[in-house]
Amino acid sequence: MIHGWYTRLATLVSFSIAIILCMLSPIYHNQYCVHDLRMIPFVLGILYGGPYTGLALLAVLLVSRTMMYSWSIVAFVIYVVIFLMTVFGMKWFKFDRLSSRKKIIFSVFLFTIHSIVAALIAKAMTVFVIDESYLINFILLPSLGMLILTYICETLLKQIQIKQALVKIEKMEVLAQLAASISHEVKNPLTVIKGFLRLLHQENLPIGKKEQYLTIASSELNRAEDIINDYLTFARPDPEQVEDISIAEQLHKLADMVEPLSNQQSVLVHKDIQEAMIVGNTRNFQQAFLNIIKNAIESMPKGGTLTIHSMVQKGGVTITITDTGTGMTPLQQARLGEPYFSTKEKGTGLGLMVSYRIIEAMRGVITVESRVGKGTSFQIIFPMDQRKNPSFI
Ligand code: ADP
Ligand code: MG
Repeated sequence: MIHGWYTRLATLVSFSIAIILCMLSPIYHNQYCVHDLRMIPFVLGILYGGPYTGLALLAVLLVSRTMMYSWSIVAFVIYVVIFLMTVFGMKWFKFDRLSSRKKIIFSVFLFTIHSIVAALIAKAMTVFVIDESYLINFILLPSLGMLILTYICETLLKQIQIKQALVKIEKMEVLAQLAASISHEVKNPLTVIKGFLRLLHQENLPIGKKEQYLTIASSELNRAEDIINDYLTFARPDPEQVEDISIAEQLHKLADMVEPLSNQQSVLVHKDIQEAMIVGNTRNFQQAFLNIIKNAIESMPKGGTLTIHSMVQKGGVTITITDTGTGMTPLQQARLGEPYFSTKEKGTGLGLMVSYRIIEAMRGVITVESRVGKGTSFQIIFPMDQRKNPSFI
């Protein structure tokens, strides 16, 4: 079944056009009636767009039929009966859950019954002759057309499903890789802590040694905490929910979040934020930018200015995080995003890896400009038309 109002609207518009085009090119006419294939897009539209799209198509059909010819009660009865039969048929046979093959068989079978019922209604209500050409033009040809079109629809839908499944597998792989590296990284400090705690059990341990062991254990605990913090979102459940993200709201929130850290290092935070909406997971977004902003502040141990800037341009939104910190050599810049790359004494080297993976999964592009002693600027561009492709996020 098709989801989302824009997909519904697109379905409605394209099937309406198909209906009108069919009406403009009849395949058969005699003195009693004009016949064309308009029923095929109508029934297909109900099957793949759902009952509400179907109802709108019914209105389109009635209006264009009346405008092109004239109001006809027979046509009205036939359309309504076919609409109801299709909707109830879909419910009864659970159309959504059928396999592709069964969907094709179902729709051709349903369509043949529709043609017969339509002819019987016409025969009961008007002068209508059922002859050989009727069998060909009213039953055989339309049913064959229906067969071909449902086959095409199913093939296309299958392609889309395969693509979505691949994207999902890719996402799971990233998560699995991250989880593996995190558990591995946390294990090391835990082993050290365990060792020192065991040593503390010794009797007659000099007080100096005791303190030394406790200091090491607590610094290792801090390290484990850092690793978990860099990996924050993945340590929480449900990281995959996709929603609308307000760039302005999230960037202001992030600035608030890092305020204690920036105050502590006398870093001035300058905000120049333009609102834009993108689609993605809010927690992942926060995590990606938290890690970048944290690095920026950490690069200014003696104070400086952190600028958080966002701007909408050329079909995308650009977010820039600039610091006036230590900067990086080209060699260091080339290694950004690599796991365990850190120049900090107590660094984890995981923060930017997580950020890069999240931003790439959101179809964002990262560019870094940095000069040693001057500062660094991280620029991230998210496409706006991302909204049209939410399955990729
Ligand atoms: P960590 O912060 O634990 O070292 P990250 O993955 O967050 O790990 O960062 C990796 C490295 O990238 C840092 O150690 C630092 O050398 C460099 N880096 C990242 N951002 C900046 C920045 N804004 N200014 C200077 N160096 C940076
Ligand atoms: Mg970091």
